[in-house]
Amino acid sequence: MYERIELFPGVIEMNYQARRRLGCCVYLVHDGSDWLLIDTGFEDTVDDIIEIIRQLDFPLANCRYLIATHADVDHVQGLARAADLLPQSRTCGHPDAARLLAEGDRVTTYAEISAQGISMDMPTMQLHETINEGDRLQLGDRELEVWHTPGHTVGQLAFRLGNLLFSGDNIYRDGCVGNIDAHHGSDIPSFIASLTRIRDSDVEWLLPSHGPPFRKDNDLLQSTIDRLTGYCHMADFGTCATSWPLMEEWDRELIEGFHPE
Ligand SMILES: [Zn+2]
Repeated sequence: MYERIELFPGVIEMNYQARRRLGCCVYLVHDGSDWLLIDTGFEDTVDDIIEIIRQLDFPLANCRYLIATHADVDHVQGLARAADLLPQSRTCGHPDAARLLAEGDRVTTYAEISAQGISMDMPTMQLHETINEGDRLQLGDRELEVWHTPGHTVGQLAFRLGNLLFSGDNIYRDGCVGNIDAHHGSDIPSFIASLTRIRDSDVEWLLPSHGPPFRKDNDLLQSTIDRLTGYCHMADFGTCATSWPLMEEWDRELIEGFHPE
């Protein structure tokens, strides 16, 4: 048996528990003998993760939910395998994540990035249930409140548990955000709205899907919001940008003519 390493009461993170990097953050929330997982990571780490959970003395039959924060391959490739190993659990995610998983969409989920030679397995599956903004997942006396926080991708969810927010790929401790890419369903104005919501909430701790947890810091959130607001008007972000002021300048110069000095 292993000793449980709790980040917060009732919250274990499997990379911290294993004391090594397995992949994305896999949070185990428990109450009594009931437990759930937020994300399951890559398929080749699922067996190890479940063995660790068994060694932590959680009855495998008491896994209530296997939750997908969103349908990116690094978060959900192992979900079908985990569901096979934990047949009492219910798989759930946003309707958009459910659709991507059911269709086996390899591009939006990043299983296939052909320009970089990346091609990974992405098992298709049907989620048992879809969850969305305002839903609540009950686990004994604990309750996860579902937030829909689009921006990184369409079906991105976050989960509030008291003063904690499992914040998905919205923001990391260094102020970086989950990547912005039109082919991935990213939307910068939605991203800004999601970050603004997190900033204005009374959540105290953010538990992201990559890297360490951190105390919610409104200055950090604001500088990230300001950076993304800039991105809206930069060609760097292609079709994710909402305007490009240089084009308006150019329109004026096309009328007025180009004067080298
Ligand atoms: Zn991610």
